Amino acid sequence: MKVLTRFLLSAVAPQHFPPAGLPEIAFLGRSNVGKSSLINSLVGGKVAKTSNTPGRTQAINFFEIRWPGRPRPELVFADLPGYGYARVPRAVTRTWPQFIEPYLAERQTLLLCLCLVDANIPPQPSDTQMIAYLRQNNRPLLVVATKADRVGTRLQASLNALERAHGVEFVLPYSAKSGLGQDELWKRLRAATAAASASGESA
Ligand code: GDP
Repeated sequence: MKVLTRFLLSAVAPQHFPPAGLPEIAFLGRSNVGKSSLINSLVGGKVAKTSNTPGRTQAINFFEIRWPGRPRPELVFADLPGYGYARVPRAVTRTWPQFIEPYLAERQTLLLCLCLVDANIPPQPSDTQMIAYLRQNNRPLLVVATKADRVGTRLQASLNALERAHGVEFVLPYSAKSGLGQDELWKRLRAATAAASASGESA
């Protein structure tokens, strides 16, 4: 689906986060999982930087999302730095939690965390750790299996393994290349946004 996207800002410290307003969707995953490709394919444009240098984007990039035909933006995407990649310099890895943890643990408007995992590799401990951390903080999350076009006939087996390892009932298969999962993911994002605005209005 084509939506209207506006880059807001790039934050490397909690004081840089935009004022809490619209509901936010956080995109999380190991470096190279296909996060930028997923975001770009979702919005139908090039907003997130795909890069051949894993771990380079050490900031949270915020984007406003507006549905076509609607007068105002209704959602914010927060693209978080990739984690768990061995080639990231140690100094960079160490600074990761200093501004990410306040975001994940305390951000009031964080509606849903999309945990991206690679459908082509076995479940990764760093992903399990991230998911456990989000659960401890009572964050709603959805696990999305990226690069699903590459897996072929083993896709269902791969999804089952990911579900078991990460303790979730459902993993959404996604391909930035073929478009698999795109409608389903938008459906879930719109449903989550609608539920949030309905509860906000009744509060
Ligand atoms: P990021 O570091 O998580 O932002 O990952 P990128 O989006 O830059 O993607 C990392 C690599 O995986 C790139 O070479 C992409 O072309 C490739 N990739 C990403 N998504 C897909 C996908 O859905 N299918 C296939 N076959 N390759 C993908």
